[in-house]
Amino acid sequence: MDNIADFLAKNNIKGFLADDEGQALYDFALRAENLGPCLEIGSYCGKSAVYLGSACKITDNVLFSIDHHCGSEEQQPGEAYFDAQLFDAKTQKVNSFPLLQHTLQLADLSCCVIPVVAASQLLCRFWQGKLGLIFIDGGHSHQEAMADCKNWSRQVARGGFLAVHDIFPEPEQGGQGPYLALQQVLDSGEFETVASVSSLVILRRV
Ligand code: MG
Repeated sequence: MDNIADFLAKNNIKGFLADDEGQALYDFALRAENLGPCLEIGSYCGKSAVYLGSACKITDNVLFSIDHHCGSEEQQPGEAYFDAQLFDAKTQKVNSFPLLQHTLQLADLSCCVIPVVAASQLLCRFWQGKLGLIFIDGGHSHQEAMADCKNWSRQVARGGFLAVHDIFPEPEQGGQGPYLALQQVLDSGEFETVASVSSLVILRRV
């Protein structure tokens, strides 16, 4: 793929990731090449998976893309981020999985992206093996963001990367869940900040 941002725009791939943030994910996924697989929490319709997966394709690595695909609290009917295109009339539930599959097929990434339909904490309990890069963009409540950052950060290989989306240091900029969770990871002394792009922050295990 020549230009990922152009591909995403041309195909109207839904998502809340800015182009510069996606490019940073791509760059760090390339750097994770020899450290282990990449994994993301919060696939949604596959925007970040295209950036991360494209890097994995070049490096012969793999991306595990995790989501329960039922949508967040804000994406339910009647809420601010509800999208009728993701609503399954048959089950009367939000389901973003078909659009993720569509995106991965369009981007020709089925060879190196493994979608996992699961709650992130359930998978985390049974996950074995260190990861080269983890991107956390799942539940944004204080509790969910804390659990994802705390429990998944243990799986980052030495020298590997932990990227967290929607980091807003000031409450008026956005929800504080991811920001406070990131602070907790930094307080452990096990990670250092290596990049900050818009609302994306990337840490490296020291
Ligand atoms: Mg996000």
